[in-house]
Amino acid sequence: MQIKNVALIGAGAVGAYFIYGFSGLENLSFCVVAEGESAEKIKTDGVIINEKTYHPVIKTPEEAKAIIEKQRQAEGISEPKNLEEQALSLVGRDIYEKLIKEYTQKQWGRECKDLPSFIIKRLPVRFIYDNNYFNDIYQGIPIGGYTQIFEKLLDVDGIDVKLGTSFDEIVAGASFKDIADKLIYTGAIDEYFNFKLGKLDYRTVKFETEVLEGVENYQGNAVVNFTSADVPYTRIIEHKHFEFAKDVHGNSIKDTIISKEYSKEFEEGDEPYYPVNDDRNSQLFKSYEDLAKQENDVIFAGRLGAYKYYDMAPCIEAAFELVKQEIGVECI
Ligand SMILES: Cc1cc2nc3c(=O)[nH]c(=O)nc-3n(C[C@H](O)[C@H](O)[C@H](O)COP(=O)(O)OP(=O)(O)OC[C@H]3O[C@@H](n4cnc5c(N)ncnc54)[C@H](O)[C@@H]3O)c2cc1C
Repeated sequence: MQIKNVALIGAGAVGAYFIYGFSGLENLSFCVVAEGESAEKIKTDGVIINEKTYHPVIKTPEEAKAIIEKQRQAEGISEPKNLEEQALSLVGRDIYEKLIKEYTQKQWGRECKDLPSFIIKRLPVRFIYDNNYFNDIYQGIPIGGYTQIFEKLLDVDGIDVKLGTSFDEIVAGASFKDIADKLIYTGAIDEYFNFKLGKLDYRTVKFETEVLEGVENYQGNAVVNFTSADVPYTRIIEHKHFEFAKDVHGNSIKDTIISKEYSKEFEEGDEPYYPVNDDRNSQLFKSYEDLAKQENDVIFAGRLGAYKYYDMAPCIEAAFELVKQEIGVECI
């Protein structure tokens, strides 16, 4: 994909580098998105880089909004029937084709028009300088990661942890009732029923991890997404930036570790990650759900048990709700 239009948000130290690089390039339409005082300042004084003054074209968020609105209207979609229509009705054709289409097809291995519309509703559309994925006021990852939280939660008398052991191995052909009165099952619902109605589809991720010795900073951010189909992976994670590039004691780390994420269809032996909520799978899941209702004393939960895309916070919230329902204890 050849990039023909670039809009820059933020003409600070990093932004100035792009102004320097992109200004005057042939076959590229380049603008800086700014408003208010900063727009006025760039218009009158320009941006001085290495003693040369640049006068980039300025566009305001209002102008961007108007362009998107025009494109949305042009699509004339009132009731989106699939992900493609949902995206076009949310952000118009330019952003859909440049940012959403190829990335989504890479992530799900399916055409956007064959995916349900609700997947794209999770994407926030904003016209302000907030590039967070989520809208929550407080966002972050626990210091030291999730592992230590789970280790502490499980370090309680009466909790017996069996690692590297499948549910089948634990029950060994007998009933779970030999071990417990009630079972909370967060594995794949189709696997629980031995796939008797057919197999549900899942997407999974192949991680390619590299240790880059002597590279202190690879990409300057924990996650960089690659939207184009030309790049085979969906994103690169640079783990150290989750902890602000410091170890748990606050020391700098001289090397870095990156993981490239390749999205693929789940196959035997993979870890199932994401449910595929297209028509076939949604129907099949409903049938499994009917079977699950007849399964006394088994609670199916989590993303695999409920065959539902869950982010971490809603997933924990659902677990709290379950505890409240089952044993009447409020977790928060
Ligand atoms: C690649 C990736 C990135 C993500 N990034 C984010 C993010 O940035 N922000 C966010 O909010 N959420 C993110 N999520 C979502 C988040 O990880 C999930 O919402 C959460 O982990 C779901 O919890 P769970 O207990 O349902 O499933 P899991 O955490 O997957 O736990 C299920 C466990 O059951 C085990 N299991 C399955 N079947 C069996 C069996 N038959 N026998 C024994 N054990 C079994 C599995 O091995 C697994 O350990 C991401 C998910 C993935 C896959």
